[in-house]
Amino acid sequence: MSDRQHELYQQVILDHNKRPRNYGELTDPSHSAEGFNPLCGDHLWVHLKVDDAGLIQEVMFKGEGCAISKASASMMTTVLKGQKIEDAETIISEFKSMVKGELNPDEKENSLGRLKIFSGIWRYPSRVKCAILAWHAVSGALNDESSVTTE
Ligand code: ZN
Repeated sequence: MSDRQHELYQQVILDHNKRPRNYGELTDPSHSAEGFNPLCGDHLWVHLKVDDAGLIQEVMFKGEGCAISKASASMMTTVLKGQKIEDAETIISEFKSMVKGELNPDEKENSLGRLKIFSGIWRYPSRVKCAILAWHAVSGALNDESSVTTE
């Protein structure tokens, strides 16, 4: 990561941690899951409302965790809201590959957009679980798994 990228990463994490987007609960979610990262203690809930056409109308999260887990969850809600399920699945899978270091977003075409700020995190394995937690939880929710733990 260049210094500039690292600076941007820090700013985005701080901003989303301070003012998490789509934070709270949905009254009648169509999908929900709980996610837990025992390594760090991050614990959150993800709720979605998907309409009959397969469009994600609402995504919200709630919970306690470190700045990275909250920032990642907050960014996830802003990116997935308004997506079709199949496009969301693509973004979720690309994000997971990227934070594990399996996808370099600068080398391969992808839909990650501003999520690319997390591209250097694979160098810090304990932080990967923080960044990936909300994404495991949203996959769980969409696949009818009510509870997800980072392994
Ligand atoms: Zn954490």
